[in-house]
Amino acid sequence: MTLENITLNLLENALDFIIRGLDELYNDSDDSEYEERFIIPISQPQRDYKYGILHLYAGFILLLKEKLYRDTPSLIYTKGEKTVDYKQVTDRLKKLDNSENQVNFNDNDKSTIKNIQDYRNVFEHYKIENVDTLKLKEVIIDFIDLINRFLNQHLEIDITSPSFDIPPETRGKILSIKPIYDRMIEESKREIKALGEEKVKTFKKVRLRVLRDLKKDNEIYFDRTGDDYNIFSICPKCDEEKLIYEGEFAGVCTNKKCYEYTSLTHCDKCGSITIGYDWEETWCEYCCEYLAELIENDKT
Ligand SMILES: [Zn+2]
Ligand SMILES: [Zn+2]
Repeated sequence: MTLENITLNLLENALDFIIRGLDELYNDSDDSEYEERFIIPISQPQRDYKYGILHLYAGFILLLKEKLYRDTPSLIYTKGEKTVDYKQVTDRLKKLDNSENQVNFNDNDKSTIKNIQDYRNVFEHYKIENVDTLKLKEVIIDFIDLINRFLNQHLEIDITSPSFDIPPETRGKILSIKPIYDRMIEESKREIKALGEEKVKTFKKVRLRVLRDLKKDNEIYFDRTGDDYNIFSICPKCDEEKLIYEGEFAGVCTNKKCYEYTSLTHCDKCGSITIGYDWEETWCEYCCEYLAELIENDKT
């Protein structure tokens, strides 16, 4: 077997093991339609702990080897055709000449790995009895979080990306895992922020013209806020009524001291445009007030 063959197998096998492990640990999410961002990230590992952990761990070790291989292919070997074990691979990753490629796990991560190794040994060699499943679930979730971070930071792989080729049921399961879901949301917010910075740059150049046009024709931009139709909404940053819409999903504050770029979505109750992200369930201020009044009236 040549080195080239092995590298392909390393990464593919690693991901295969990890996906298999996740599949074994998680039930199908209740929704049959897996609309990515709308999955509620609450699911807990609850199915086959033994094979789930064995697969995840095997996949993780292969990821470490892949990282080592990407730096210096020959480093994954010890003697002859034998490849490094966990201790050897982590030692070598710490000492890589190129400090950018070095991998140093912090104490939390080390203890997560140690816990998983312990469970793995128990599952592999003994009968599984008297295992505290609450504790076990916590450790599994920490380990999945660690794997996900490792993939992102050290191998530039995002398993939540739509371009990552996996069956939709598996995607549903992956996104139902809270740390993975949270990281995806963080990433989406970062992307929106970066896009916003670009948009604001452009807007600054045309601000005066846009404001003038809005005065002439505010049809395109109107939204209902309170009783009056108004082209401007309250900006969440400066609290002034100076936010205008750019399309349906974003707004920019026309206040020169602010220029905040804001993500917009539709109110889940009345459908009007309101501040929020499209993956969140959001009610507009108007509907929130209405609901608060109903509750208040209910009390008296
Ligand atoms: Zn503002
Ligand atoms: Zn509403």
